Amino acid sequence: MQFPENYSCSKFDLLWAPCKVNALLYAKKEIIAPMDRCSQNIRNAICTKPGIPKQIRLERMEHGFPSYRKLACQSYFRMKIAVRNTIRLCGVIVFIAMCNVSAQEAPETRYFRFHSNYWLNLHHFLYQKAEGGQLRKLQEDGLAFPNIGEAKAWNNLSRSDRSVLEEAIDFYKQNLIDKTLRRDLGKVRLWLKIQPENGTLIDTTHSLSLASILNSVSPIYKEHFWKLHDRSNKRIIDRHLTTIGGIESTVIPKMEALSANKWPSTVIVRVDICAYANWAGAYTSTRPEMNIVISSLDPLNEGSYFVETVLHEGTHLLYKYGDSPVRERIFDMAEELKMDFPSNLWHAVLFYLCGKATQDELKKSGIDHKMIMDVKKIFSRYNTSAFRNTLTNYYNREIDLDRTIFELLNTLKK
Ligand SMILES: [Zn+2]
Repeated sequence: MQFPENYSCSKFDLLWAPCKVNALLYAKKEIIAPMDRCSQNIRNAICTKPGIPKQIRLERMEHGFPSYRKLACQSYFRMKIAVRNTIRLCGVIVFIAMCNVSAQEAPETRYFRFHSNYWLNLHHFLYQKAEGGQLRKLQEDGLAFPNIGEAKAWNNLSRSDRSVLEEAIDFYKQNLIDKTLRRDLGKVRLWLKIQPENGTLIDTTHSLSLASILNSVSPIYKEHFWKLHDRSNKRIIDRHLTTIGGIESTVIPKMEALSANKWPSTVIVRVDICAYANWAGAYTSTRPEMNIVISSLDPLNEGSYFVETVLHEGTHLLYKYGDSPVRERIFDMAEELKMDFPSNLWHAVLFYLCGKATQDELKKSGIDHKMIMDVKKIFSRYNTSAFRNTLTNYYNREIDLDRTIFELLNTLKK
């Protein structure tokens, strides 16, 4: 049986893997090998195993899972005979679980798809309670988390529930908070976001100890906190979805032109809305695929700040390391001018241009938007009047990219 030749999937989303004790699903979304690098064994396995009817798998390949943008392939991976029967059984269980996940349609626009994911919310909740970076940053800015009833829920915990929760937070303090959510804990995020949301984590392939902690605290989180967080996440999505959908069709093409880059036509960026995010309230990972995480409890997200955040974080797709004409040009020209490479100048440029594009579009709807860069005083060392003048000229297409970068660098040289 051959894998359909016309199947356009370029990702290898789902692998079946063996496990030491049980056959567990090793599901890795947004990864790894293009289909043409699959071995013949795996291709054969995809079309012949496991206990999911071939017709269903082919239909899924044709049309895709709603929550797995390009459902790809399933294979037994170095499967041992001793666990084969267990794997088949688990295959059916996981397939059913995946159907539960996919049954929940995520709201989307042309460029973004918004999720409120149970495990990611629990993970970020524990990280924030252990590390406290987002709260500290808000306090520095004179802000605070809104009251969504979390303190009351905390007070309602029984002594034993509180002790389990505190144990989980201690685990994060001891093992995770010296790692960044975006970069160091990227694999945890990839692992958690594809787990079935109902029930316990049966996939321990990433970390047995972390899975065990999350499973122990999950019933308490589900009973006391998840509804509060999910409601807050969905409210923020509902509040801004129409606005984002309305202006993105102008802002993104404008950012494509300004970044001299192209948004891949098939890419819809996944945005995970979590009650808590990192210290900044939002972050984006570009590898192995774009994934934005935004905190619904950042009080600024009540207003148009959220709209710019989504568009800004999404625009990182056009400024990726190794695939950004703007970054390359800054690097080359800094060398030509014999000056040190100004780190993050490209990011300051992105902040200004996307902020301005968002501001202009919102203005057409009567919304007076203040750019994030100014509100949060981001990259203040770059954000001078000369910097703004040069970029405004570039934005209005009065000067080209080379001239723009030359002027920005020369300003820094003085
Ligand atoms: Zn950014």
